[in-house]
Amino acid sequence: MTTVAFIGLGNMGAPMAANLLKQGLTVRVFDLMPSMVSTLAEQGAFSCPSACGAAAGAHIVISMLPAGRHSRSLYLGDDSGQGLLDTVASDTLLIDCSTIDVDSAKVIGAAAEARGLAFVDAPVSGGTAGAAAGTLTFICGGELEAVTRAKPILQAMGRNIFHAGPVGSGQVAKICNNMLLGVLMAGTCEALSLGIDNGLDPVVLSDIMKASSGGNWTLEKYNPCPGVMPGVPASKGYQGGFMVDLMVKDLGLATQTALTSHSATPMGALARNLFVHHARQGHGGKDFSSLFTQFRPKSE
Ligand code: NAD
Repeated sequence: MTTVAFIGLGNMGAPMAANLLKQGLTVRVFDLMPSMVSTLAEQGAFSCPSACGAAAGAHIVISMLPAGRHSRSLYLGDDSGQGLLDTVASDTLLIDCSTIDVDSAKVIGAAAEARGLAFVDAPVSGGTAGAAAGTLTFICGGELEAVTRAKPILQAMGRNIFHAGPVGSGQVAKICNNMLLGVLMAGTCEALSLGIDNGLDPVVLSDIMKASSGGNWTLEKYNPCPGVMPGVPASKGYQGGFMVDLMVKDLGLATQTALTSHSATPMGALARNLFVHHARQGHGGKDFSSLFTQFRPKSE
């Protein structure tokens, strides 16, 4: 029986770990927030006092952390302690599903390789709904052998598993995708608001645009206008979902990556500025579709 250590039980990690439990796997969990650990323990996971404790005896480690610095400290260690690379058994497969900067993924991958450990960067797409439904897309970077080993466990949490290239490639593909998502969300907010200002019903306008050339994922699955689509963050006070702060991070990663490759990303830069402005007004903890409110009068 495969034992999995799952580190990072936030909006995404908790439902992903829950899906592993539903498949009958043994799951050892750790998060810095004890309440997150207790919630998973109630569903049958083994709660562990530290990341290294969770990884001890696990065949596979999966991490789902906010950003590169968290993944680096988990795998490489920091002032507060040793990293997982120095404590796990030599045949452990390490899968980082966090969205992080390409450099961090490559540094962790190289350090893992130096210790003879298999490491895959496998950021995801599909949001919290996809995490709960077990329909995530995993975008893997790593050696073919490691990605092949990772596939069965990823299939327990997702539907599409892509191999983008060597370690770090998963992050590049994910960063491109999320830059496009940020641009599409900003444009969708702007278009819906323009329609409302000119007397249109946002439900009718959304139906028209979905079936027309402006149709896109945010209109199909994640409408940012409250009341248009049930169940999405916009209809729940912009709670849960994908935080503005995380979108700001991802658009920053796109900028960083573009600087390295001398690529022009004007739309990504504009989207980043819009989301940064929104975050600085105190909305960083809300879902990213709350950008819609920037386009609406304050009185609404
Ligand atoms: P989150 O902030 O809800 O969860 C992160 C969790 O990691 C928190 O519970 C935090 O306590 C924990 N954590 C931080 N450092 C830790 C450490 N050293 N050890 C153990 N636990 C630690 O974030 P999220 O929404 O779950 O996103 C996680 C990752 O997935 C991010 O990289 C994000 O960009 C990416 N992502 C999120 C979504 C989404 O819709 N939320 C979609 C795709 C990808």
